Amino acid sequence: MTVSAYIGLGSNLAEPAAQLARAVSELAGLPGTTLVAQSPFYASRPVGPQDQPDFVNGAVHLHTSLSPHELLDGLQAIEQAHGRERLQHWGPRTLDLDLLLFGETTIADLRLKVPHAELPNRDFVLQPLLDLSPGLTLPDGRSVAELRRLCPDNNLRKLPPVARPLG
Ligand code: AMP
Repeated sequence: MTVSAYIGLGSNLAEPAAQLARAVSELAGLPGTTLVAQSPFYASRPVGPQDQPDFVNGAVHLHTSLSPHELLDGLQAIEQAHGRERLQHWGPRTLDLDLLLFGETTIADLRLKVPHAELPNRDFVLQPLLDLSPGLTLPDGRSVAELRRLCPDNNLRKLPPVARPLG
């Protein structure tokens, strides 16, 4: 049995759009997982400290037979492979991968909160989700389209498509 999962991607260091394109290929290569669709990428102003480069954000839709925690393990392994360092809360990063939605499942444990806690508040998460699945709803029934309408705008700019590296 596979589940629809949505992953948010973000980067603001070391050629962010290329980091994201590579991460999409790596997500598609996780065991038991297929890539259904990839959103456009967006440039956005950083949340938190402003003395850092703009972010590039996007999202992917996956079908996976992994459990939510196995999927999180996969996301963290990909982040590590991109040389992610955690120097500062909300500071610059080469790659941030968030498990946004996992089917209709709600999780709140020490490692994992699904839907992702910041999902309803961030246009750079909501807009790519909307691009992927216009009719998407959260497990509590709220519609992503409505949340996007209510969300403050963070000067999102859609970027031209980036070719996904092969292999
Ligand atoms: P950050 O990389 O700063 O977004 O936070 C990473 C931490 O958030 C990790 O320790 C994860 O265990 C935790 N976490 C909780 N919920 C999620 C989620 N839905 N997706 C990714 N990380 C999560």
